[in-house]
Formats: sequence, structure tokens, C-alpha cells
Amino acid sequence: MALGASREAATQFSGSDGRFAPSPTGPLHVGNLRTALLAWLFARSAGARFLVRVEDLDRSRVRPGMEEAQLAELRAIGLDWEGPVVRQSERMALYEQTLEGLGEAGLLYPCYCTRAEIRAAVLAPHGISASDRYPGTCRELSAKERTEKEASRRPPALRLRAENIRVGFEDRLLGDCQGHVDDFVVRRNDGAPAYQLAVVADDAAQGVGEVVRGADLLDSTPRQILLQRLLGLPEPRYAHVPLVLGPDGRRLAKRHGAVTLADRGALGECPQEVLAWMARSLGLAGRGEKRTLADLLSRFDPGRLPPEPTIWSPGV
Ligand code: GLU
Repeated sequence: MALGASREAATQFSGSDGRFAPSPTGPLHVGNLRTALLAWLFARSAGARFLVRVEDLDRSRVRPGMEEAQLAELRAIGLDWEGPVVRQSERMALYEQTLEGLGEAGLLYPCYCTRAEIRAAVLAPHGISASDRYPGTCRELSAKERTEKEASRRPPALRLRAENIRVGFEDRLLGDCQGHVDDFVVRRNDGAPAYQLAVVADDAAQGVGEVVRGADLLDSTPRQILLQRLLGLPEPRYAHVPLVLGPDGRRLAKRHGAVTLADRGALGECPQEVLAWMARSLGLAGRGEKRTLADLLSRFDPGRLPPEPTIWSPGV
């Protein structure tokens, strides 16, 4: 099945073109910035383009002014990118076209379940584990059942018939990875394209050949690869980079204190000092050593990145 979406800037496409795709829901913290730095280093060290895509589809979470703030934060640590910045909210036609392709191939079905119902179905009858795997409740509804649900319930989401297929891939940092793909949502019940769908359509349309992102998104990758295969799209390479954690071992967040460039600035620390911490944490600079981005680029070797998460420890 062919998607038929034309690839943007196809003439410049390189198999290593990379991107950073923040959601404008708050300021970037040092963990997000470190992921952006790594995505930039992967792309630039391969002589490839680096793109920035604003993932603003979840309107309830987008905060005004955050897109500009995030772009300023990326610039403040010295990152540059090939423009223009792309905004998902302006690309609905691409997502609709992608959904249509899947629908026409008979790969989608409406799902009327609420989160609570899914949780209850997953827990029953053994009460084993709460999982976000979809148990398939709406997969084989009869026409009568569907009409009943339509009459009495909220608008449906659309799910992909993935049927728990196993998808494997080779991650540049983590090696062999694999996962089972459940029937995940591709269009939410408020009509918005789901993250998984939009990312796949965009990465293909933008000619992204290498996806470098935080290891917290590793579970999404089998879903995205399945979509690429069903849509006949090229599969990018993936590198899931280790996260920055708070001192409590949990994913870095606001509760961990001064974690954004603005917070650090208020403590008298400039963006270059934050960059120096990132460089040290990646094994690209020694203690007390301030390096330019050009220095980091010349030292960058993906094979020598520390595989384990880093604990945020400013001043170390
Ligand atoms: N927008 C996602 C986030 O901010 C990243 C998506 C991706 O890199 O694929 O977590």
C-alpha cells in the first residue's frame, strides 16, 4: 500500500537526516536539551540535515509562548537547523490522507471504549497487571453492536488492526529490540491524529532517515515501524538515547528543582555552562573543560556514548 504523500525537500534527502520534535507544553529541561544535542550531533556528524518539528497536536497540553521559548533554548546552547520549523497543527491534511490510506486498506476500526473500561477489561478476570495494551473489545463488533454503541456513546477513536504482531528492529545504541504491538489508537476520539500516526507521516514526508530521541519513547517504536510497513514508507534508523534522571532515579522533571536554562540562569549559570555539563555527562569533555559545539562534534562517536542514564548533578 502506498501512502502517496510527497516527500518534502526530496532533492536534499540524506539517509541520516535527523530531527528534534518537542511538544510545546513547557520549557525544555536539561534532559530534553541533552537529547536535542545528541540528535544534532548524530545528524551533523553524518553531514546531514537537522530539522525541528513542533508537536502541538494535543491542544489541551500546549502552552502559549512555549514554542518560541523552546526554540530560543535550542539556539541558546548553539544548535541550528534547516528551516522552516514545521508545526503538526498545520499538517492535518497529511494525517487525514494517511488515515484514509489505512482505512481503505481495512486496517482501522472504531473503538468506543473509555480508559476505565479498558483498564477493567485488562484486569479481569485474573487481576494480574494493569497494562495499556488494548484487549480488542471493539475489534469484531457486529453491525448491530456498533449501532447500539453509536447511539448511546461518545464519538469513537480509530484503532489499527495490529493484532499483537511482534516487531523487531536494530537500535543504534541499544542493539536488538522488539515488542508486541496492540491495536493502538491512530485517531483520538476528539478527532485529533494520535502521536504515533502523526510522527510516522511526518518523519516520512520530511525525509527523516534517523530518529534520535529519548529512551522513554522506545515502546512507541514497534508501533511506528508497523505503521511504516503497512503504509509502504521507508524505515528510518533509530537511536534511543539514555535519559537524564533526577537524584531520586526518576525521569527528570520540574520537581527536581532548577532544571531549565531559565532556572540555571537565575542561579547565575549561563547556557554554555549547562552545555559543559551535558558534554561531561556524554563523555565529550572533562571536568572544568568548556568546549564549543564544533569541538563536541569533532569528538562525537556514537559507539562511545555512555549507555546508562545520567543522574542530574549540577556542578559536578
Ligand atoms: N514530541 C515527543 C516528545 O516531546 C517526541 C516525539 C519523537 O521524538 O518521536 O516527547
